[in-house]
Amino acid sequence: MSSTRGGIAGIGMTSARTRDRLVERLRAHGIRSEAVLSQIRNVPRHLFVDEALASRAYEDTALPIGRGQTISQPYVVAKMTEALLDGFEGEKVLEIGTGCGYQTAVLASLVKKIYSVERIPELLRRAKQRLRDLDIYNVQFRPGDGWEGWPKYALYDGIIVAAAASVVPEKLLDQLAPGGRLVMPVGAPGYQELMLVTRQRDHFEKKSLGGVSFVPLVHN
Ligand code: SAH
Repeated sequence: MSSTRGGIAGIGMTSARTRDRLVERLRAHGIRSEAVLSQIRNVPRHLFVDEALASRAYEDTALPIGRGQTISQPYVVAKMTEALLDGFEGEKVLEIGTGCGYQTAVLASLVKKIYSVERIPELLRRAKQRLRDLDIYNVQFRPGDGWEGWPKYALYDGIIVAAAASVVPEKLLDQLAPGGRLVMPVGAPGYQELMLVTRQRDHFEKKSLGGVSFVPLVHN
């Protein structure tokens, strides 16, 4: 029974049960990392979508966040985070495509420092504000083109890209530390493979984690 009055407070009243249900669903779909599942339970996803959609925030579905962009499906956020952090060593993560900041918030307490790049300043401004409201301070944001990465703070131990391209941008591979892991949807518009790329001593090892559908990594 969810109250429609009271906005966020109304959602808050039902959220423990609805969040648990989401976590159980992700577990049933194969998410194993308890650390990741507990972040999915803890991060208030309803604060990352428009109030009109808040009642759907704990469904396992992507939702619009304005400017033609979407907040990723929780399963995909969990899957990407789990893949990035499995055997992760180090502390620095580069995120491309901040969007509403939900993925950033899920990752924030699992790593030491996140550098996050978003091309739409308005989305970035709102994401920054949300993370501040949630007392998340280990993220540095930058408006910019994800194809370029963020050379200033490279190398990164992990790189997570929330938008799709037909190839992994060369500059992102250059900015990945030895032993580092990159997770990104690669393929045609509408359907991509979620790829995990690990930087070995003298080559990049690639593995597909299954099919996904992301908005494009726009060429500026
Ligand atoms: N991480 C978000 C999902 C973001 S959707 C979440 O947690 O739900 C993908 C985002 O990538 C959009 O906000 C889009 O504006 C951004 N994006 C697309 N192309 C980009 C580029 N070349 N550089 C930086 N950001 C880009």
